[in-house]
Amino acid sequence: MADHRFYKEMKLPGEKYREAPLIRRTVQWIFLLITLYTGWRFVRFVHYLQQGGGEVSRPPGVEAFLPISSLMSLKYWILTGDFNAIHPAGLVLFILFLLMAWGIKKSFCSWVCPVGLLSEYLWKWGEKIFGRNFTLPAWLDWPLRSLKYLILIFFAWGIFFGMDAEALKGFIYGDYNRVADIKMLLFFAHISAFSLSVILGLMVLSLFIKNFWCRYLCPYGALLGFFSMFSPVKITRNPDTCTDCMMCTEACPAHIQVHKKIRVRTDECTACLTCTSVCPEPDTLMLSLSKKKKKPLSARTVAWIILLSFVLFTGLARLTGHWQNNIPVKEYQQRIHEINSPVYEHTN
Ligand code: SF4
Ligand code: SF4
Repeated sequence: MADHRFYKEMKLPGEKYREAPLIRRTVQWIFLLITLYTGWRFVRFVHYLQQGGGEVSRPPGVEAFLPISSLMSLKYWILTGDFNAIHPAGLVLFILFLLMAWGIKKSFCSWVCPVGLLSEYLWKWGEKIFGRNFTLPAWLDWPLRSLKYLILIFFAWGIFFGMDAEALKGFIYGDYNRVADIKMLLFFAHISAFSLSVILGLMVLSLFIKNFWCRYLCPYGALLGFFSMFSPVKITRNPDTCTDCMMCTEACPAHIQVHKKIRVRTDECTACLTCTSVCPEPDTLMLSLSKKKKKPLSARTVAWIILLSFVLFTGLARLTGHWQNNIPVKEYQQRIHEINSPVYEHTN
């Protein structure tokens, strides 16, 4: 085995992936800015509605935060051919992110998701403040990692086995779902002490444990992880040139034993390319389509695939009328004034 310290001192990142951290961070910030801009427009939309106006248009991208509704819409679309007209943008983005997971692993988590970006900053700050992060022992890590799948199964089971087309239609076009985005905003605007403490607790835990929310609790990440296992693209190691220095494994934020794998197949890999960027051996660790054809997908290629597919999908959705919903402003104006009535509880 090669001397690990020797490579650490050399600090020679894999040539092809030298720029990967910077490129990924840039893409993450682009999506964060898009999210913040969408959120700001949505806050203004709701504010004007509350004042009795409707001058500010509603940004459809806000529907990306309604994944359960989108999962129902997906099943409904498959069963009936009817594309949800209440939150069409949510369904478009949901399909895009599923395809992205199939295409380039769980890249949504480490390249697109703003929660993933916040999580990453938190554990990096934690590392700076406390000098290290903490890893849970395997006997605790494994059952905790299954939690996100249990949450996913809870929702998916109810949707796939508990709801037929009629029930799905009732939900999708029902009172609650028509204003689910506004309800979500009001939830955060008037957040209860309990919910706030839960969020703050998760943030504190994220200082100590890398990506606590993503690793253990996020059902969206679990769903994408499931799809990512069928991805033809995987982190691939060439054992002939690998020196077993373990730098990849030490750098992996998902705690994957990269130095022991030929192909990283696990659902935990987010294609963040951290491992490839620290590998000191040329052409040894790469994101590639197959272990035989060692044609690496560079960080630039991944970034372009993600950005272009986003532009293409959202652009096509706009052109074909699958972006804006068909709820008139008048209806929003009427509903906003009765938003706290039991009609808009999600049990209806
Ligand atoms: S194996 Fe590599 S690409 Fe996958 S999560 Fe770990 S560091 Fe990121
Ligand atoms: S693949 Fe991992 S263990 Fe092998 S040389 Fe690269 S960093 Fe070291």
